[in-house]
Amino acid sequence: MEPKSLRRASQLLKQHGGEAKLIAGGVSLIAMMKNRLVRPAVLVNIKAIPGLDKLSFQERKGLRFGPLVIHRRIATEPLIRERFTLLAEAASEIGSPAIRNMGTVGGNLCHADPNGDLAPALLCLNARLKLVSAAGKRDLSVDEFCADYYTTSLEPDEILAEIAVPLPPRGSGGAYLKFKRTATDMAVVQVAACVRRDASSGCTAARVVLGSAGPFPILAKEAATFLEGKDFSPEIIEQSASMAAAEAQPMTDGRGSEEYKREMARVCVQRALKVAWKRAGGSD
Ligand SMILES: Cc1cc2nc3c(=O)[nH]c(=O)nc-3n(C[C@H](O)[C@H](O)[C@H](O)COP(=O)(O)OP(=O)(O)OC[C@H]3O[C@@H](n4cnc5c(N)ncnc54)[C@H](O)[C@@H]3O)c2cc1C
Repeated sequence: MEPKSLRRASQLLKQHGGEAKLIAGGVSLIAMMKNRLVRPAVLVNIKAIPGLDKLSFQERKGLRFGPLVIHRRIATEPLIRERFTLLAEAASEIGSPAIRNMGTVGGNLCHADPNGDLAPALLCLNARLKLVSAAGKRDLSVDEFCADYYTTSLEPDEILAEIAVPLPPRGSGGAYLKFKRTATDMAVVQVAACVRRDASSGCTAARVVLGSAGPFPILAKEAATFLEGKDFSPEIIEQSASMAAAEAQPMTDGRGSEEYKREMARVCVQRALKVAWKRAGGSD
């Protein structure tokens, strides 16, 4: 089915109950269907709904884009590379060129893979997600949206309709780091970090997010709070990275043991913070 509006798409999802699945790029959904993990009787294709692949930027409103924007666009758009660098870095780490050409941001977020690259980056950047159904609208933060392994807080008839990312304030720098086993593999661990620097008072704000370190992206609050008011030195960065590793909740799986992932998280936080600080105008 190819509805022409979000309202109609939501009505179709409601009408067919658990039998229907929304499809965007089909990258993850078709793989799940091939493996008989899901067997929807009805596919609701949202590609004919106008405007869902649009991207816009205004200094005051920040970056806004529809769920059908593909990963390649996020990775390559000059404005995103320059002003939302860590988001472009995260998108450029996704799978292979084929996956980045077909997969959409909306599909990536709604699939809610705990190893996904975009949710940690968007959480770090304080993005808001607009959800729409025939009954109304909701606006959620990324951590409100990511509910559990492969689970979001979308209602069955809700559709992710827009992603809004505020412009990081002046003096900010961010970095995204993915540690993986092979070039196209999902992550062993990921880190998104943003810091804001003031020449006289050091770090005035920080956010550190760990991916593949629990059921959903983990905001390492203690590690970030510890950085505030400090000038970055190797020792300060090291202490914050150890705090972040302690906040991780990784699970032993085929990509490594819990201990290994925690250690890799520590190393990646250290490296991401160094890059973010430098991008915020700090010295090496
Ligand atoms: C070989 C391979 C390698 C990959 N590597 C990576 C990687 O390194 N990093 C990474 O992050 N991801 C990776 N992925 C996952 C992939 O990037 C995403 O899951 C993909 O982009 C999903 O987008 P899609 O448009 O194809 O979604 P679809 O497959 O069409 O949909 C995925 C799910 O989201 C739902 N959905 C889609 N859009 C919406 C919407 N707007 N509102 C509500 N529900 C919606 C669908 O119903 C479905 O349940 C990989 C996938 C494959 C197959």
